[in-house]
Amino acid sequence: MAQSAAPAAASSAIPAVAPISLKEIAPWALFVGILMLVLLYFVGAEQGATSLISGENVHEWVHDGRHLLGFPCH
Ligand SMILES: [Zn+2]
Repeated sequence: MAQSAAPAAASSAIPAVAPISLKEIAPWALFVGILMLVLLYFVGAEQGATSLISGENVHEWVHDGRHLLGFPCH
């Protein structure tokens, strides 16, 4: 019968994906970029004379990442 073929055809149909325009994604890309730069600062330069937060706590938290990324440390 023709009704038995209809469910098989419906399950193999590809759902339509709405495209995301560059204008919609640009603010999120900027936000994530700034967040990554702040993270890069804390991993790579939050130490000594450039330190924003006194003490060694931030440096100790990101110490392994610092070595992993090849920043000079000790
Ligand atoms: Zn180190």
